[in-house]
Amino acid sequence: DLHSFPTRRSSDLWSFNCGSSSLKYQVIDMEGELLLAKGLVERISMEGSIITHEKRCMDKWVNETPMENHDDAIEQVLNAILDPEHGALKSLDELGAVGHRVVHGAEKFASSVLINSSVMEALEECADLAPLHNPPNIHGIMACQKLMPNTPMVAVFDTAFHQTMPPESFMYAIPYEYYSKHGIRRYGFHGTSHKYVAQRAAQIMNNNLEEMKIITCHLGNGASVSAIKYGKCIDTSMGFTPLEGLVMGTRSGDLDPAIVTYIREKEHLDIGEANHILNTQSGVLGISGVSSDFRDLEEASEEGNERAQLALKVFAHKVRFYIGAYIAEMNGVDAIVFTAGVGENDIGMRDIICNNMGNIGIKLDVVKNRTRGKEMIISRDDSPVTILLIPTNEELMIARDTLEIVTGKPPRSYAM
Ligand code: ADP
Repeated sequence: DLHSFPTRRSSDLWSFNCGSSSLKYQVIDMEGELLLAKGLVERISMEGSIITHEKRCMDKWVNETPMENHDDAIEQVLNAILDPEHGALKSLDELGAVGHRVVHGAEKFASSVLINSSVMEALEECADLAPLHNPPNIHGIMACQKLMPNTPMVAVFDTAFHQTMPPESFMYAIPYEYYSKHGIRRYGFHGTSHKYVAQRAAQIMNNNLEEMKIITCHLGNGASVSAIKYGKCIDTSMGFTPLEGLVMGTRSGDLDPAIVTYIREKEHLDIGEANHILNTQSGVLGISGVSSDFRDLEEASEEGNERAQLALKVFAHKVRFYIGAYIAEMNGVDAIVFTAGVGENDIGMRDIICNNMGNIGIKLDVVKNRTRGKEMIISRDDSPVTILLIPTNEELMIARDTLEIVTGKPPRSYAM
């Protein structure tokens, strides 16, 4: 019940992730990194808008109600958070700060930042690079500022963690002025997740992150791999946009760029259609023709569907390809981490990815690997490289960064 919640409210933070048609949030008491409530709004400005809210130790509370825009969605979230029965707060004044996920920070932001008017201007400038993602992020910030004008807000960027990449990792070999004029370079995404799981890997292994070489595999609907050397990202598989790199649920990943012009000509596609195909009709969905969901693919594969089998193999091949490349780039690796929907749950996929790499020190324990969704070392005891399964927690990472910026103190680290 509400009265059992901690009474010190100033440490309560709101982590906020506002996408184009969905919105995720968590209210966290940072005193003990205790999740008070979390939720998800889906289908904003579509038919069947719905909010699913969950208060600590209580059942999910679902409310289907029309939400025409993000302001409506945020109003629903506030109603849920302040609800006497399902809520986590008595008033918004109890919130210490709000941390906002922002997808693209370009080269302007190499770390999280306290939001003020000049930051807002810079965010608007970055929106050009992420037209689908940044505008709803910015909208979410403005809506919260209107409701809580005196609450500090922090922007946490998906790209920031990758800003340590050296130029040889981020430059494309196209005319240099495209970089200087248009900012065309590799940025990388999922940075909050890669950073979180790398830190956890070091903690779990009782090692110092600054002395480790780690490869983090964030395998979800969107997927990327990062090489993290001595605590800093030195390479990552996503690029100028989240389309580059691994094969994904519906995104192609790496391609010969000539294919784009070729299929446009052959299939009579305009730029928008070509973009749509590469982003939403490709990846494991495109190869299999079955689904972008790995559960469906595995089922089809077991039933003998050859294209589903092929899609899974191509996906695994690309992850192995990047693992190999990053071992070369770092001159070795101490730990490989699997995270996100597929990385955390797909036992078979982890098995294929790690198969037959004993000669480079990667030995999966097939029994320990039979684990889903919880922290676990899944390599054999005699494996020179430690393989870990670590559920990601981007919201907590956002909240930690927010706390650090608002208080000026690094957060205590909790074993979770
Ligand atoms: P995103 O946040 O990028 O949308 P997630 O990290 O939530 O994606 O991953 C979603 C994907 O995880 C699903 O599309 C599905 O393929 C995969 N997934 C979830 N659970 C399982 C499971 N038990 N087995 C295999 N794949 C799973």
